[in-house]
Amino acid sequence: MDLTGEELKTELTGLGFSSFNSKQIFDWIYKKHQFDLNEWSNISKKLKAYLIENFELVIPKVIWQGESKDGTRKFLLKLEDGQTIESVLIPARERLTQCISSQVGCAIGCTFCHTGTQGLKRNLKAGEITGQYLVLTKWLHENVDPSERITNIVYMGQGEPLHNYNNVKAATINFLDDLAFGLGQRRITLSTSGLVPKIKMLGDFPPVNIAISLHAADNSTRTQLMPINKAYDLERLFEAIKTIPLKAHRRITYEYLLIEDLNDQPEDIDALCNLINRKESKINLIPFNEYPGCDYKRPSPDKILWFMQELNKRGYTCTVRQTKGDDILAACGQLKTQYEKLNLWDQEKEPRQADQTL
Ligand code: SAH
Ligand code: SF4
Repeated sequence: MDLTGEELKTELTGLGFSSFNSKQIFDWIYKKHQFDLNEWSNISKKLKAYLIENFELVIPKVIWQGESKDGTRKFLLKLEDGQTIESVLIPARERLTQCISSQVGCAIGCTFCHTGTQGLKRNLKAGEITGQYLVLTKWLHENVDPSERITNIVYMGQGEPLHNYNNVKAATINFLDDLAFGLGQRRITLSTSGLVPKIKMLGDFPPVNIAISLHAADNSTRTQLMPINKAYDLERLFEAIKTIPLKAHRRITYEYLLIEDLNDQPEDIDALCNLINRKESKINLIPFNEYPGCDYKRPSPDKILWFMQELNKRGYTCTVRQTKGDDILAACGQLKTQYEKLNLWDQEKEPRQADQTL
């Protein structure tokens, strides 16, 4: 699962196996959800022996799940090395969107983000990224309805996806591959805090929707919220955004966290309009999700509505993200921390790994 279809094909043909075997293997994993190689009936003994000798097939395990009154389900998943990550399923009309993590923790350290306070533990492998989709699909089939399908994915879980560029790229190729997950380009959204060198490489990334976490339209407020703005300020960020091939990516979405008295003033609207091109952008306002110990506050519903309407009046496509799953520790990274405090996982069997620095 860490390999794309092409990579698996190259690996197999290099060893004298048929390239068609790659299709069969993908079929067992991604279509039939059969993770026991002994059951792979159309695979030769020789290839099976090779696969068992050289590969491991592991998908993350669900160790906790909670359902919110609004239907949002939050999952804590355990990886092979005992690390945990969060993933969320958000139902909306005919869609079921999965919020996927790309790293264990995050190095960017945004001051409003609970995951940011945890630091970076490690990158997720491509198979651990797509494995989140697989394990939740399986969970839904076993616990809700065998016809359930996750229709959309957003890289808005824990971690900065472009900080783990190669693995997120391989995972995305598999998400798009008809022989694997077969999701459409428009059903995948990658969100980034603004890692400029990697944004400049997006021409070489599958053409999925791109969301930029902007959160402030002036450098001093943005630096206060996102330390990455010291290295890659607004000027450099927008220079890099210009290099994104828009034909493929259609419009860029700008995520703008609304925090009381910090970035919700009339001058913030002016600054935002000066910065963002109306035609090629969508603005998604995110009411700040408060969590214990954070200093920031969410503005009142009236203020949020006013902010949105002002932008609409000036001709911007602007929506407010509905806050979901409030009753199940919805703020990014909150569940993992709570879980660690309660020490609920099985420590005897799977001792916690020492933190890794990447
Ligand atoms: N690292 C990437 C993607 C993951 S974060 C990025 O920053 O874009 C995904 C989104 O969650 C970001 O837009 C971030 O602003 C939002 N987020 C983080 N903490 C939040 C909070 N406390 N309340 C509301 N949104 C939050
Ligand atoms: Fe990392 Fe995104 Fe959280 Fe910032 S908002 S710390 S980039 S996960």
